[in-house]
Amino acid sequence: MAGGTDFYPALGERLPQGTVVDITALREIRGIAVETDYFRIGGLTTWTEVIRTPLPLCFDALKAAAREIGSVQIQNRGTVAGNLCNASPAADGVPPLLALDALVELTSKAAVRRVPLGQFIAGNRRTVRRPDEILSAVLVPRTMDRAASAFVKLGARRYLVISISTVAALVARDQSGRVQTARVAVGSCSVSALRLYDLESALVGLPAQPGIGKAVSEDHLSVLSPIGDVRATADYRRDASLTLVRRALEACVGSS
Ligand SMILES: Cc1cc2nc3c(=O)[nH]c(=O)nc-3n(C[C@H](O)[C@H](O)[C@H](O)COP(=O)(O)OP(=O)(O)OC[C@H]3O[C@@H](n4cnc5c(N)ncnc54)[C@H](O)[C@@H]3O)c2cc1C
Repeated sequence: MAGGTDFYPALGERLPQGTVVDITALREIRGIAVETDYFRIGGLTTWTEVIRTPLPLCFDALKAAAREIGSVQIQNRGTVAGNLCNASPAADGVPPLLALDALVELTSKAAVRRVPLGQFIAGNRRTVRRPDEILSAVLVPRTMDRAASAFVKLGARRYLVISISTVAALVARDQSGRVQTARVAVGSCSVSALRLYDLESALVGLPAQPGIGKAVSEDHLSVLSPIGDVRATADYRRDASLTLVRRALEACVGSS
């Protein structure tokens, strides 16, 4: 258990069964450090620390997601790692970190291994973390520092809400002002958040300027498999996601 903000609500009225390991005293894995090749987001880093740490432009999407996670109280306790390990389809931290090509570092007594975030989350509330491992860090490659990024979240109300759809986008431009790299990830519309690789390829070479959203078509979102539930119908999720993808891309190119 880290912040406990997923752990306790999941218990409902029940008391915890078995042994609970509280890792909150492990100061060594708290906070964000800059290494030669990676930004290291320690496994106990809270959302508030993400918001307060000065970071390059490419982290704007992650910071925007952090500001929308629950309330300030939840952001003070809840950790990035907890959000990833809980592996909810609606976890707001996942799309921005997928767009950053993040890896997770898993540490056990025996070994340390790194797994790309897209492979770490294996399904709805399932990860490839083994019982003897803790998520000791999220590693973000230092390849996109100057790329613009944006996060947009749709819920039934503005704050303290489980997402209907979320989109994170990242756009790096070349010297002529065209898209050099684009990354787009959508959350809450499949068992786990997904990158839209076909769209990303289609955007490369386009002018990185307002109007870029027109390049996004319904076909680009065909990899998503939204469900209908109490929050929204599947059709609504799909339709809303198209709009959110366009808005996230527009936000990236309008911001510099
Ligand atoms: C009122 C409320 C509002 C919320 N709003 C949002 C929201 O808007 N968006 C959103 O995405 N989430 C939201 N959440 C969910 C939650 O706050 C986040 O997912 C948070 O980031 C979880 O982090 P935590 O440290 O509290 O995790 P915990 O509850 O401590 O742990 C969650 C799970 O991850 C495991 N775990 C935690 N850390 C590690 C680690 N380092 N290594 C291995 N396993 C670990 C635990 O064993 C547990 O299974 C909300 C929760 C509440 C109560």
